[in-house]
Amino acid sequence: MGEFSGSGEFEEVTLPGVDEGEILVIRSKRRKKSISAYRQGGRIVISIPARMSKADERTIVPEMIAKIRSQEETKTPGEEELINRIDELLTELAPEITERPLSVSWRGMRERWGSCTSVDRTIRISDRLKFAPDFALDYVLFHEAIHLQYFDHGPEFTETLARFEDSELASAYLDGYEAAERALLEPTELKRL
Ligand SMILES: [Zn+2]
Repeated sequence: MGEFSGSGEFEEVTLPGVDEGEILVIRSKRRKKSISAYRQGGRIVISIPARMSKADERTIVPEMIAKIRSQEETKTPGEEELINRIDELLTELAPEITERPLSVSWRGMRERWGSCTSVDRTIRISDRLKFAPDFALDYVLFHEAIHLQYFDHGPEFTETLARFEDSELASAYLDGYEAAERALLEPTELKRL
């Protein structure tokens, strides 16, 4: 995390053809040769040596992005798997809910973890959860699945959601993730801590 602490030590670069905010390239003065790329707070962070030429950067950065994405794709549950998982969760924890989603899809949502439209029985899950631990993904899937039956967060909804065993752990994970995202978006805030 040292790279985030000193002012002027990195510059943010937005690459053409890449969603703004999704990729952060850090030019680190302390980094001599090595390049690192990792996922943090929903972004791909790529740290390169400060002296790397722009031409090398333009070659290497897309390679690192492709590498991370291909690693991630193999770990990501597909939409069919998500539908099956919701079926398992509802069967086990809320057998009184007989509705099942017609589709469950990944979406690039930053403001929400998931959403459910009960009229057409579609559920969307934020792609920030693609690499989350199972308990966090299950928690969001279960939350949205309950909305197939209960529209708002009333007592019946809350009572049903409470049957999810790891709900406290899952909430902590999601809150922590959001805090990390805010910290990355506001480096000056982080510095003051
Ligand atoms: Zn909800």
